[in-house]
Amino acid sequence: MKKITFIGAGSMAEAIISGLVAEQVVDPKNINVTNKSNEARLASLNEKYGVTGTRNIQEAMKEADVVLLAVKPKDMLATMQSIQPYITTEMMLVSVAAGVHTASLEGIAAKEVAIIRAMPNTSATVGQSATAISTNAYTTAEQRQTAITLFETIGSVVVVEEEQLDAVTGLSGSGPAYLYYLVEAMEKSAQDLGLDAGTAKQLIIQTMLGAAEMLKHSTKSPATLRKEVTSPGGTTEAGLKVLQNYEVDQAFIACIEEATAQSKRMG
Ligand code: NAD
Repeated sequence: MKKITFIGAGSMAEAIISGLVAEQVVDPKNINVTNKSNEARLASLNEKYGVTGTRNIQEAMKEADVVLLAVKPKDMLATMQSIQPYITTEMMLVSVAAGVHTASLEGIAAKEVAIIRAMPNTSATVGQSATAISTNAYTTAEQRQTAITLFETIGSVVVVEEEQLDAVTGLSGSGPAYLYYLVEAMEKSAQDLGLDAGTAKQLIIQTMLGAAEMLKHSTKSPATLRKEVTSPGGTTEAGLKVLQNYEVDQAFIACIEEATAQSKRMG
């Protein structure tokens, strides 16, 4: 990746810029950023990361080999129209907009250009996004690898078929919110049981991090790990019985299915 241009300078653009600069994947001098109406934002990104902010889209896209479209889904088609004259077949376009299909982007590009869709999540801000990408027919193996390298600066990356991006959105795109919801309930119970908020927060966060690390490093399945903590007649068994009576697993399955269906409806 020699030169990368960000169209849109919001929180997702900043998370990726921050990752690229921290991991020295691209020299900040070769990162251009442009947005619609906020000069101050471009100046602040320049000061923080040394990237070049410009309001001139033609200038921003000159010689870019990667153009990363980081605008809201509702602004994506207008943005594509505004960059269309400057798109070349050597470029790779990367869209992080949920629900905007490759076919729509290809229609506006009207050139045989590589287009990659990515679905990161908000944990990108702390370099821990679970990102899935899909590639179109014009994407070379080298460009695919470039996209993987790019999103690995903000977390982990899997490559999927575009049809699977709705399921990814329902699972890991919205996933952080499901876990926050669970933490809210755990915090509430801790408070009801007399633990102070700071103590509860530390215990809950470390419990989540520890369980995530176990899942990542152990060869055992989640069910085996669960059974290993559940001694007969013990506290975990008593607690889990309540979750099973409430059919919490079914609630999670329904939740992810509904989020996936909503992603399809919005696309
Ligand atoms: P944001 O609102 O913070 O930023 C959007 C940026 O786009 C702004 O800088 C705005 O000026 C710019 N913009 C709008 N229209 C433009 C145009 N025509 N030309 C140039 N710039 C234009 O949004 P965000 O949270 O950074 O999200 C950006 C995209 O990332 C969205 O499509 C969103 O679906 C996707 N995404 C975000 C997250 C996240 O964690 N924030 C996660 C997954 C996907």
